[in-house]
Formats: sequence, structure tokens, C-alpha cells
Amino acid sequence: MALNSTVTNALTDLYAGTDFSSLSYLEQKWVWWYVTIGNPVVATGLMSFLLHEIVYFGRSIPWIIIDAMPYFRQWKLQPTKVPTPAEQWECTKQVLFSHFTIELPLIWLFHPTAEALGMQTYHVPFPTLKTMAPQVFLFFFFEDFFHFVAHQALHTGVLYKHIHKIHHKYSAPFGLAAEYAHPAEVFILGTGTILGPLMYCYFTANLHIITVYLWIVLRLFQAIDAHSGYDFPWSLHNIIPFWSGAEHHDFHHMAFTNNFSTSFRWWDRIFGTDDKYRQYRARVKAQKKANKNASKEQLLAMEQKLMAEVEAEGIIAEREAEARGILGGKAKTQ
Ligand SMILES: [Zn+2]
Ligand SMILES: [Zn+2]
Repeated sequence: MALNSTVTNALTDLYAGTDFSSLSYLEQKWVWWYVTIGNPVVATGLMSFLLHEIVYFGRSIPWIIIDAMPYFRQWKLQPTKVPTPAEQWECTKQVLFSHFTIELPLIWLFHPTAEALGMQTYHVPFPTLKTMAPQVFLFFFFEDFFHFVAHQALHTGVLYKHIHKIHHKYSAPFGLAAEYAHPAEVFILGTGTILGPLMYCYFTANLHIITVYLWIVLRLFQAIDAHSGYDFPWSLHNIIPFWSGAEHHDFHHMAFTNNFSTSFRWWDRIFGTDDKYRQYRARVKAQKKANKNASKEQLLAMEQKLMAEVEAEGIIAEREAEARGILGGKAKTQ
């Protein structure tokens, strides 16, 4: 039955045959939300926006605390570049501005689009985890490849100069900076996150919005953690070797090149866009091996020298990217 988005009472009717005692706590709250709000476009829009804000800032707060505690510096990938509270506040203001001006209006399109494609929204019960897990993995896979291609395009000519350069303001990123980007970039790269579920829904007509929310929550965790600037022994890539994580993306910000994908390492590996990154890691490893008796401070000083070299090359690479044509023409000398 199609949901008439303008008739409030229709919602209560739609749940008429539902056995509420068989619903989980979360499913009951879900029904309550849709019935209380009355208008499904508003209910979905508001929930999507709140979910995004709560998860984005909620996940960023632990990183702000970690940045304020010198104890954690031992795991910071670029230990001398810790964001100041002023930088974090500046970044927060920019992110909030784009959330309210770009994302909030766009989010209202989500329910009508989802509904037009046959996505389940107000419906209960929810799909099982067994149904959701492969769908979420597919969205991860699609987004990662989409991002890998689109991100490289953003590293060329005018697209870089006028759009992606903003995201590269921080050569040592921090959690809050995950969505610090030009509105056009939020739109372009956000497409990779939303298009997967929409296409899946279009072709299979079997998707519940709760699965999309689960995917978005995990994707936000991925993006914020990848920008955190920390690599712990317990970080996910140390357990799942093809997971990207901060250790992978931090290098992209520091060196301005390589590591274009989001969640997984395989595309950069297959297409060779991780050569400089792997070279750098090998140099750090070799340096540590050759200087086993050096003190922690000496090792850090050596690693910082390598970082400075990579960053200097990055500045040149950035200039070249700005001069490069979108179709990959050679860089013009300026
Ligand atoms: Zn980039
Ligand atoms: Zn980034």
C-alpha cells in the first residue's frame, strides 16, 4: 500500500493490523515516532538529520578529548601537529554551517525519493541482521569504488582549485575535519554514500531505511576515524589488513597524493596509487630497524625528517594538480 504523505491519520491505519507485543523495543519506538510526527516526510527528514548530527559530533567528541591528552601522542601519526581548540572550533562552525544550509534542505528529498523507489520506511518489523549485513557490505563496496574514482577527479585542475582544496586545508586531519569540505564536494562524494542504497532498492525492491541508517552510521564512523590522525595497535586495519583507517588516509592529507579510497585498500593497491605511501612506510620501517639502539626521541626526529620530505613533495604535487586538466593532461609548468 502506498503511503499518502499528506494524510496523518493514514499512518495509524497502516499500523492497524500490527501486533505490537511482537515488536522489539526499537521497533515500538519507531512506530511511535512515525505516528507522533504524523507526516512521514517530516518524520524521516528529521530522524535522518538528527541521526547524522548526533553520530557526527558524538563520534568526534572522543577524538577531541584524545587530542587534549598528551598521553595519546605516542599513537598520533603526525605527533607534532595537534589541532588547537581554536582550529577545532573554526572547523565545527564550518561543518555546522554546511549541515544546516546544504544538508538539511537536501535531506527532505530523501523520503519521497526512497518511497518512489519502494524503500520501506515506517514499516515494522525491521529486517534481520542476516538480511542487513550483506546489503551494508555492498554499500561499503560501492561507495569505496565510487569515492576512489571521484576523489581522483577532484585532484585535478579546477575541481581541485575550486572545490577539493578546502578539504586539504589540514595536512594533519582530525575527526571533526571529516566533513570539512566545499558544499559541491559534500554533494559529489555524498552521492557515493546514497546512490548505492537507492540503486539497490531500485533493482531489488527489498530495502528498509533502517539498513540505510545502519550503513550511514558505520560510514560516519569510518570517515571520522580515518581523519582522527591516530593509529593504535588495536586499530581496525591491524586486525583486517585491507581496511584503510587513519593510517591510510592521514598519509593522503600529509603527502597530498596516493590513497584515494575510503574504506578499503585494494583499489589503490591494484591501480598503484599507493606507491609513495608504501615507499614511505618501508622507509620508516627500515629506519627503525637500522637504528634499534636509538632513543624514542631520536627515532621520532628521524621520522619527522621523512615526514617533512613527503610534505615538501606534496606541496609540489598540489601545485601540479591545480595545473592539471580534468582528463589527465600533463601539468603545465607555472
Ligand atoms: Zn584529496
Ligand atoms: Zn580527508
